[in-house]
Amino acid sequence: MEYKIKTIGVLTSGGDAPGMNAAIRAVTRAALGNNIRVKAIYRGYNGLINDEIKEFTDPQDVSGIIYRGGTILYTARSEEFRTPEGRKKAYEVLQKEEIDALIVIGGDGSFTGARALAQEWNVPVIGIPATIDNDLWGTDATIGYDTALNTIVECVDKLRDTGMSHERLFIVEVMGRDAGFLTLNAAIAAGAEAAIIPERDALGQEVENAMNGRKHKSSGIILVQEHAIEGGAQAVADLIQKHHPEVSTRVTILGHLQRGGSPTAYDRIIASQMGCAAIQALLEEQRSVMVGLVNGEIIYVPLSKAIKEKKDISNAKWKDMLTLSV
Ligand code: ATP
Repeated sequence: MEYKIKTIGVLTSGGDAPGMNAAIRAVTRAALGNNIRVKAIYRGYNGLINDEIKEFTDPQDVSGIIYRGGTILYTARSEEFRTPEGRKKAYEVLQKEEIDALIVIGGDGSFTGARALAQEWNVPVIGIPATIDNDLWGTDATIGYDTALNTIVECVDKLRDTGMSHERLFIVEVMGRDAGFLTLNAAIAAGAEAAIIPERDALGQEVENAMNGRKHKSSGIILVQEHAIEGGAQAVADLIQKHHPEVSTRVTILGHLQRGGSPTAYDRIIASQMGCAAIQALLEEQRSVMVGLVNGEIIYVPLSKAIKEKKDISNAKWKDMLTLSV
């Protein structure tokens, strides 16, 4: 059977996220299984502009990667692709390589770029949401979020051991760009005394709650989203020291530890589902959509909406759960 799309390009872009490899694997195998050629584009949009492309001809080309963190295609942030000239170069490479459609595995920035390319040069693009931040509208989960969440909880559990032994308050800085999903849910899962996130403008109250909670015990954990307050976790520690100089505090910045590691089973499963669904979308002649997962079902949402709409963190719901730990 002949399909309109004969060759796809696949790339990973923006921040790396555990499970990207599982998505590359699923895209490749689903495409080859439907007689679609697969061109792997290395180093995100930079690699597209510079024609860093290798064809995957065999399902074995993506063997042994489902359990590996990071991305075998490497990832990059490309300033050139932000410009119309850069995207023109990218389109010329797509033509030269005879790539009819592009699958972009990344976050909202990567999808903004993909949409611009689609609008300017009429290229069919499909987005697969992969970011540890889980900040994309139109999907309950993004690839990498579950792994990062579990990594954070594991680290906080360890800090709890030392914090209890020394009767200390640990203030832990968590990633998330502009979103508090990682911080809030890690705080719930780790039984933290407080979570300070960008979506909630109640720093003083959060800190006071945490200090009140600590009255029953000598240690404590406060999680701080990296951009919730200027200065991050250190700024929160300084504030506490100013008002409660008797408290022993320590700051831990988890940093890039949160990005690494073998993806959880959940991330591998959703990456596999989404990778197959991206090929299905092309077979159905869809374009400029993001694959999403809502209530366990695969859906397709327009890229324009996924980029523009803001995902609701439903603060009120989580607030009760957090106070359980105090
Ligand atoms: P993460 O959420 O993990 O950081 P992301 O996809 O949002 O992932 P970005 O660094 O925001 O990561 O974007 C990745 C790349 O997408 C950029 O380096 C750039 O090449 C492209 N991009 C981002 N925004 C735009 C834009 N407004 N126009 C064109 N291209 C863009």
